[in-house]
Amino acid sequence: MSSPLRGEVIENAPLGQQSWFRCGGSADFLFKPADQDDLITFLKTRDQTMPLTVIGGLANTIIRDGGIRGHCVQLGKPFAEVKRLDDLYIEAGCGALNGNVAAAAVKAGIGGLEFLSGIPGSVGGALRMNAGAYGSEVKDVLIGARAVSLIGEEYRFVVDDLKMSYRHTEPPEDVIFTGAIFKGVAEDYETVKARITEIKKKRNDTQPIKEKTGGSTFANPDPKALRLAGLPEDTRAWQVVEKVGGRGLRIGGAQMSEKHCNFMVNNGDATAADLEMLGDTLIRRAQEDLGLTLHWEIKRIGEKA
Ligand SMILES: Cc1cc2nc3c(=O)[nH]c(=O)nc-3n(C[C@H](O)[C@H](O)[C@H](O)COP(=O)(O)OP(=O)(O)OC[C@H]3O[C@@H](n4cnc5c(N)ncnc54)[C@H](O)[C@@H]3O)c2cc1C
Repeated sequence: MSSPLRGEVIENAPLGQQSWFRCGGSADFLFKPADQDDLITFLKTRDQTMPLTVIGGLANTIIRDGGIRGHCVQLGKPFAEVKRLDDLYIEAGCGALNGNVAAAAVKAGIGGLEFLSGIPGSVGGALRMNAGAYGSEVKDVLIGARAVSLIGEEYRFVVDDLKMSYRHTEPPEDVIFTGAIFKGVAEDYETVKARITEIKKKRNDTQPIKEKTGGSTFANPDPKALRLAGLPEDTRAWQVVEKVGGRGLRIGGAQMSEKHCNFMVNNGDATAADLEMLGDTLIRRAQEDLGLTLHWEIKRIGEKA
């Protein structure tokens, strides 16, 4: 019997090499749906006893060396449309790159979305992570989202349904986000464009964006936890890493960047195990030396080798 699916099915998909860290294992089975109906068909007809992993652009993810068992879903081109709805609104599919949303906003003279220009990855990942930079985050500009539950039911959420907080989104159901509507403010093209140029320069000057990295390794610590550890409440994760001797620290091919010590980089031959061990070493040091619990911001998925 022929498959009812119209999208791409890839067995043994080398996802580690697709990730921004360029290391880690493969996924047993990757499905890239042709459209929302195809995604729903997949979710309704797949073997529900198999684990399901949702991935985006893999800019915030370490894929462990043993790879991912079960089914993976990734939204690609069919979900990458970005269009202006009217003077202030932009609609984007969750397979679109954040950078393309920012670019469409500039073109339309819509301000407020330019922070997305420097955040690698997809709109789906940005919704799930409540991604943010330079004082703005997704929840500030998101109006609502379309989604499909893991058993194939369609949902529409307004932003308040999603309980978004610092690098965290908590939809009422476990879902795959498929579309989003953002609202900006009216601004002229030149002003928005100049702000994007400034953001790009700032990132280039302060972050190892040309290396194999995954963005901030640890979330900024909670002010209450900092207070309990006797540290100033505005201490950032990079300062904690610095305090425990993390800047430039290496394990195998993994290293905390000299340029921005909350960024972990693959120097060329890192395994996912090297990266994870480096992060765990810093978590242990922060606990032992400062009495502070650091939390991974980077997701780690799959099995150890
Ligand atoms: C150089 C660099 C700089 C960065 N700077 C920033 C920054 O300034 N601010 C910031 O917030 N982040 C930053 N990041 C991290 C990363 O860009 C963001 O977290 C981004 O939102 C991840 O999106 P992604 O599509 O790559 O998600 P992935 O890494 O693939 O996945 C991240 C999470 O999102 C979930 N997910 C992905 N797509 C969907 C979907 N459609 N529906 C439901 N869940 C989904 C996954 O299950 C996973 O839990 C940076 C990363 C790099 C490499």
